[in-house]
Amino acid sequence: MHCPFCGANDTKVIDSRLVAEGEQVRRRRECLACGERFTTFETAELVLPRLIKQDGSRQPFDEEKLRAGMLRALEKRPVSVERVEAALVHIKHRLRATGEREVKSLIVGELVMKELQKLDEVAYIRFASVYRRFQDLDEFREEIDRLAREPSEK
Ligand SMILES: [Zn+2]
Repeated sequence: MHCPFCGANDTKVIDSRLVAEGEQVRRRRECLACGERFTTFETAELVLPRLIKQDGSRQPFDEEKLRAGMLRALEKRPVSVERVEAALVHIKHRLRATGEREVKSLIVGELVMKELQKLDEVAYIRFASVYRRFQDLDEFREEIDRLAREPSEK
């Protein structure tokens, strides 16, 4: 693995441990050339079902989009990144456990809501109130952006 700081070829693993309920390996690496340290995460890549949208179109499962949506709902909330990653692992696990090649995108939204409910009540309400109206993660993100721009009522 190349060093992201100097591009050298030789980096060594100085620590390795399981995270996200054992479904991810976190490695601390050190560059032998410049001495910088960085972290990598390793996850087994398994096929996830495609999502069937409300209009009947299909799209691949997009983990980045899901993560972005959850992080937006959790903005400024006291929830660690590790717990969010564990929730994502859980959601993917549930999707694979369906054994289906295609699932309704609604199911993903329901799984996200379940996880957020466990993580943080405020984030759950944010997500649920917007998601129930739009039922689409793209629109959801736009709506959350809009809400974030409005002055907060305290
Ligand atoms: Zn380096």
